[in-house]
Amino acid sequence: MTGTDLGIPRVPGARTAPDHTRPDDPSLIDSFGRVATDLRVSLTDKCNLRCTYCMPAEGLDWAPGEQVLSDDELVRLMDVAVRLLGVTDIRLTGGEPLLRPHLEDLVARITALRPRPRLSMTTNGIGLAKRAERFASAGLNRINVSLDSVRPETFARVTRRDRLRHVLDALAAARDAGLDPVKINTVLLRGVNEHEAPELLRFAVEHDYHLRFIEQMPLDAQHGWSRAEMITADEIFDLLGTEFTLTPSPTERGGAPAERWLVDGGPHEVGIIPSVTRPFCAACERTRLTADGAVRSCLFSTTETDLRGLVRQGADDDEIADTWRAAMWGKLAGHEINEAGFAQPIRPMSSIGG
Ligand code: SAM
Ligand code: SF4
Repeated sequence: MTGTDLGIPRVPGARTAPDHTRPDDPSLIDSFGRVATDLRVSLTDKCNLRCTYCMPAEGLDWAPGEQVLSDDELVRLMDVAVRLLGVTDIRLTGGEPLLRPHLEDLVARITALRPRPRLSMTTNGIGLAKRAERFASAGLNRINVSLDSVRPETFARVTRRDRLRHVLDALAAARDAGLDPVKINTVLLRGVNEHEAPELLRFAVEHDYHLRFIEQMPLDAQHGWSRAEMITADEIFDLLGTEFTLTPSPTERGGAPAERWLVDGGPHEVGIIPSVTRPFCAACERTRLTADGAVRSCLFSTTETDLRGLVRQGADDDEIADTWRAAMWGKLAGHEINEAGFAQPIRPMSSIGG
């Protein structure tokens, strides 16, 4: 599935703010003064789980191979990002990034870039247990593993696959390999796993994993999100409060999306990401590259900027960098989930890269 197939407008350069022109600045500054230094790269739109809040049971029409950026094309774009555009952090995601062939080699090529970006990955963890050591050796710095339940039956209900053991083993292997911190991403679903929130936090505290709850967003392929059904950040706080005392963490939040809380006085913390109810768009530092080579300034963008075409037509690095800068200059002030007339983007989360 590609932007073109999906009918997403691909523009050669994104909208610029009507009232002022872009300063001569090498960074990925936008017209509101935010500077994107954090690049999220989707390595594939394919996945081996079927989380109900993400995609339908039958999966999706995966992008044909020739439309997906090759390793050389990906490394070229990441090199432009770190060398010319000021990107300091890269996160590999998807779809499921571990399904990308030869990922250890790609990780080594990314960490050889200069300036050296900090490299992290968001993964469902399937197959990671055997590979965590190799990723750490290749220079991967940090990892987020998605886990919505530590009960096999709930895990299978959410992901439609009986793979809990693989994910628990992945977490342990990541920690043993020295990836630090090991974070867990959790989405709570009403009537499915929300009552397991304290159990998940107990598990994370016991194993020294950093748990972050993410409010469910309207980014599922089947458009099944409903505001009434979503578990809000405040509800998550109250659910955890039934078993733990949460007090504000003294850690500076900066551009990080999670509101952080000390658990029972610390030192352990838990994060709650209120993407919908308390958007953090004003502090956003992100730029995104889809597996088929489109720059998106936001998860919720309704337009995107094609870089794959430029790369394949032989554009030089400066031309690519200028197009990326123009794409980010047009970034909107924020997502409009809470506005009347909000339209869910055509691309689902698994295709954008979460
Ligand atoms: N497959 C990998 C994984 O699950 O970690 C990486 C891609 S996944 C799209 C990235 C993150 O997005 C996961 O933590 C997942 O739970 C989260 N996610 C997916 N759909 C979501 C939604 N509709 N709202 C909030 N988070 C979502
Ligand atoms: Fe796959 Fe991640 Fe989506 Fe789950 S959330 S279906 S693991 S891409």
